[in-house]
Amino acid sequence: MSLGNLYKILDNPFYYGVFEYPKKSGNWYTGKHEPLITKELFNLVQNQIKSNVLRIENKEFAFTKMMTCGLCGSGICADEKFKKYKNGTITRYVYYGCTKARGTSCKCGYTEEKDILKQFEDLIEKIDINEIQIKEKIKADVEKFTNLQNFFLGKKEKPKILNIDIRGYARYVLKEGSDTEKRELLGCLKSKIVLNNKIVTLNK
Ligand SMILES: [Zn+2]
Repeated sequence: MSLGNLYKILDNPFYYGVFEYPKKSGNWYTGKHEPLITKELFNLVQNQIKSNVLRIENKEFAFTKMMTCGLCGSGICADEKFKKYKNGTITRYVYYGCTKARGTSCKCGYTEEKDILKQFEDLIEKIDINEIQIKEKIKADVEKFTNLQNFFLGKKEKPKILNIDIRGYARYVLKEGSDTEKRELLGCLKSKIVLNNKIVTLNK
């Protein structure tokens, strides 16, 4: 089970022992079943989900100001576009491109965020794990992740920071993390991140 699915389970109050019947009626009952999670953990997860939604509404892009254009050495910035379909659905696209601060004629073009994210996911599987330095500011997140992982695996012992699954944490952040968490993770890479003709590379 992925952590994404676990978050979905944690979104349902049934798992801390209460349920609403009929749905949306406001009538809450305490079930006879043994709660799987505590109310505290449930509330913690709700707050986390809400803060992720707020961050998205603030129009922050995950990978701006952290990559360099491989063609001209300028920074890489992002913009969003909304495409409306005939059936009324609107899809949001995020594109990254050269700021052209160092060369107005740069021809690096635009790369869609989902392509960049996919490349980061592939990179995380391949890189030497020493490439990721666990900086102070993400230490607490890594510990939280390890605790949650251990909780669901039924492990009782406190995780030691040395034994954490850094690659597992990185994989999780790229898949399920907020933009801020992704930024913080990629800020821990020792190498410079270069976007060269739509290909993300690490420059040692
Ligand atoms: Zn450029």
